[in-house]
Amino acid sequence: MKLLTKFSKSMILATFSSVMKAVMKLRKPVFGTSVATLVLAISSVSVMNMTAPKPLTGYQVTVDGQVWGIFEDEKMVEQTFCAYKERFLKNVEADDIVLNVEFDAKIEIEEVVTPTNVYNSLEVIFDQLHRKKDQAVYYTVQPGDSIWAIAARENVPIATIMTYNPELDVEKIWPNDEIMIESEVPFIDVVVTLETVEIEEVAYETEFIKDNSLFRNQRVVVKPGVEGEKEVTYNITYRNGYPDDVEIIQEVPLKEPVTSVVRIGTMATLRRLGGNNFGVVVGRLSSGFGNRRDPFTKRITFHNGIDISAPRGTPIKAYTDGKVVKAGWDGMGGNMVVIDHGNGLRTEYAHMSSIGVRVGQYVSIGQTIGRVGATGYATGNHLHFSVRVNGKYVNPFNYI
Ligand SMILES: [Zn+2]
Repeated sequence: MKLLTKFSKSMILATFSSVMKAVMKLRKPVFGTSVATLVLAISSVSVMNMTAPKPLTGYQVTVDGQVWGIFEDEKMVEQTFCAYKERFLKNVEADDIVLNVEFDAKIEIEEVVTPTNVYNSLEVIFDQLHRKKDQAVYYTVQPGDSIWAIAARENVPIATIMTYNPELDVEKIWPNDEIMIESEVPFIDVVVTLETVEIEEVAYETEFIKDNSLFRNQRVVVKPGVEGEKEVTYNITYRNGYPDDVEIIQEVPLKEPVTSVVRIGTMATLRRLGGNNFGVVVGRLSSGFGNRRDPFTKRITFHNGIDISAPRGTPIKAYTDGKVVKAGWDGMGGNMVVIDHGNGLRTEYAHMSSIGVRVGQYVSIGQTIGRVGATGYATGNHLHFSVRVNGKYVNPFNYI
């Protein structure tokens, strides 16, 4: 008898609850023939007029075709149903509007003559409404658990866990926390429809302007975009207290978004032509950009470029027009060339067996600047090719 609302508490007379439990076990309306009903009648809680010459009338409640009983007071019957429904409104926020609260069942209340002059107690309705098809299932958090691991193991989507546990902070779960993974299923669903209004962001669009003073794939923001705002009216349907359906009723723009303007480069560069032709060199990709296991130390380290294995002496070509800013020994990089292409873009070529350019020299797109080797920190013949934008290493595959 948990979850009694104040309203229903006042209606249920505690004195006969144990008697009614016995009646309820029979699971259908019980009239004079049963012992339990006789006890109930003698308990004088229900009305039983032994001496009345004419039959009494009562209100028969039928739910989805099943008769629950005959009750004395129609208003009290309605209030019992209402009190149960009100349980599902306790989480409604102040600025939400309740549009509808209803049972997903056909409930009929009909005035009838009682065949035995005995009324059923309202507790029959209360208990019927509180029956469950399934109880809620809780998971007890174990040491080392994460919400993602629990979701995967119990095969429950994270979104569902969040719905069932609105107070849960997914980043902070502790051993012995109880997390609901299946909600209880009552015999009769209560469907609540709310109207709620949210202020939401509107994404901005981006306009690209082709710019032949920038190299291909370079982007310069001319005008930053600004998100707009809109007021969205939703109808949200809750079934037994959990969101079930969302419908957008209306969208009112409040602030138009500001389109972003971006210049995008079109100036020619070498490009990967598929297969083994990486533009700057022909060979086989042996290591990509990003974190990798160092071939010497076996530790995970950041690889600031790509490695392309090729026979010693294979020509290495300038990515695009530019000025040589480094051509010589670099220690780790061995024989190395760095070309400044302007607009913050630089390309780096390492481990060369020979260098074909000198510092200060202007080179043009596709010009041979050196040859593949294994000088410096290298396990075999390959080109280490890096791209920097304003000093920061970026993935070369976004540039070739
Ligand atoms: Zn490398």
